[in-house]
Amino acid sequence: MRLTANEVFPKGNRRFKSSRLRVTEFHIAIVGAGPAGYFAAQALQNAQSEDLEFSIDMIERLPTPWGLVRSGVAPDHPKIKSVSKVFEKIATTEGFQLFCNVELGKDLSLGELQEMYDAVVIATGSSRGKKLGILGEDLAGSLSAADFVPWYNAHPDYVGVDVPLDCDTAVVIGAGNVAMDVARMLALEPHELDPTDTAEHALTNLHKSSIRKVHVFGRRGPEHAAFTSPELRELPKLEHTDVHIDAHQITAAQQRAQAQGELPKDLKSNLEAMLAIAEAEKKNHERAMYFHFLATPLEIKGSSRVEEVVFGINRVENEKVIPTGETFSIQCGLVISAIGYESLEIPGLNYENGRVKNNGGRTSVANTYVVGWAKRGPSGVIGTNKSDSTDVMKLLIEDLKDAKPKKELSALLSSRGVLHLSQGQWEKINAAEVSAGEAVGKPRVKFTQRGEILGL
Ligand code: NAP
Repeated sequence: MRLTANEVFPKGNRRFKSSRLRVTEFHIAIVGAGPAGYFAAQALQNAQSEDLEFSIDMIERLPTPWGLVRSGVAPDHPKIKSVSKVFEKIATTEGFQLFCNVELGKDLSLGELQEMYDAVVIATGSSRGKKLGILGEDLAGSLSAADFVPWYNAHPDYVGVDVPLDCDTAVVIGAGNVAMDVARMLALEPHELDPTDTAEHALTNLHKSSIRKVHVFGRRGPEHAAFTSPELRELPKLEHTDVHIDAHQITAAQQRAQAQGELPKDLKSNLEAMLAIAEAEKKNHERAMYFHFLATPLEIKGSSRVEEVVFGINRVENEKVIPTGETFSIQCGLVISAIGYESLEIPGLNYENGRVKNNGGRTSVANTYVVGWAKRGPSGVIGTNKSDSTDVMKLLIEDLKDAKPKKELSALLSSRGVLHLSQGQWEKINAAEVSAGEAVGKPRVKFTQRGEILGL
């Protein structure tokens, strides 16, 4: 039987360990406590052997970890959040330390991390919403999903976002899963959100919401939509919301796609799911979602706030989406664009197309790697990050040479007066949220104010 270094030598006796087995311990900083960061840590932990160990410091800007699992995943999709159990297992494995409420670029620089650690892994995601770049985009009532989603998910930086819900009709721009999450959150009967971890301020506002009709617009055809079929298949099951898609648009898309040859499995499933929505019995609910395709937003109009969106009508010709020159408009009081994200830039790294410039995860900067959305752009589901981070960590391990002596990050942060939260403190916050939730039949009640989290 082969014992690991941890089994041979008890915790905390590192000097003894290294002299007997010549264990090399590398010190790795992971910046960003979201899925990509945790899966990178897990890949390093899994790569440990008798002679190779990693001590991992994970640094997170927010006072709480879990990234998009906490502040992105829709509250009515609690099962997706169960991956947080995996994160906690990684975080409680020997050699892992969490430093929340520490911001790269403010509390410490990338250069300092590169100096202190054998390797630095950037897992900071992409949190800025892409702009439509059309007239009226900055009117009150026009928001990016990058503001709306963290608002309903209790992200402390987005509590104050002004989300006007005093209108009958909302428009959502984009044909991806974020657009679908946003549309559902607006179109659900708010009581359906009561047993979820939706932020209390958002839930209160959604209960008062006048929105009854939510229109989702894709600029290309149904065959080009980025929705995934499990998410589409949920829609006809909504208890209090009718979902409308024009069946003719879907059959036309099926014919166009079939003319190109056999349909890829995912596309076939997507189009079938859309047709099932179109054909599902409508219950005459007051609340409804409508999907429209081949419509490019041209302008958002309004005197002091959003009143109308003008769309250009497109058609598909020889596989190309081209404008017909015709337009139509829709009256609404709220527009949310869900058209993708780009990374916030970290000084010292090079960026292109909204993400860190990289070659398979290696950046152009010494001992610095990138994983997740910061690496590949905002694509894939949470699980995509597991294989992606694992691949990048293989490169990182290949590149490692001599280990540097360990420097304590907590000492540096304390010397700068940076109030950082450890895994133990996060566990207390987590337990307090879950316990507050238990009392009211929710998975948790999230804290929204940095002050209250830091004061715990
Ligand atoms: P996405 O899947 O890339 O979809 C973006 C949509 O925006 C596309 O339909 C795109 O159309 C459209 N778009 C881009 N620029 C536009 C413009 N200027 N005008 C009009 N439309 C524009 O991005 P996402 O919805 O933000 O999702 C990001 C990732 O997270 C995806 O991989 C998604 O699957 C994942 N996610 C998964 C779940 C889940 O599993 N439940 C939930 C949420 C998000 P074109 O195709 O024409 O460019």
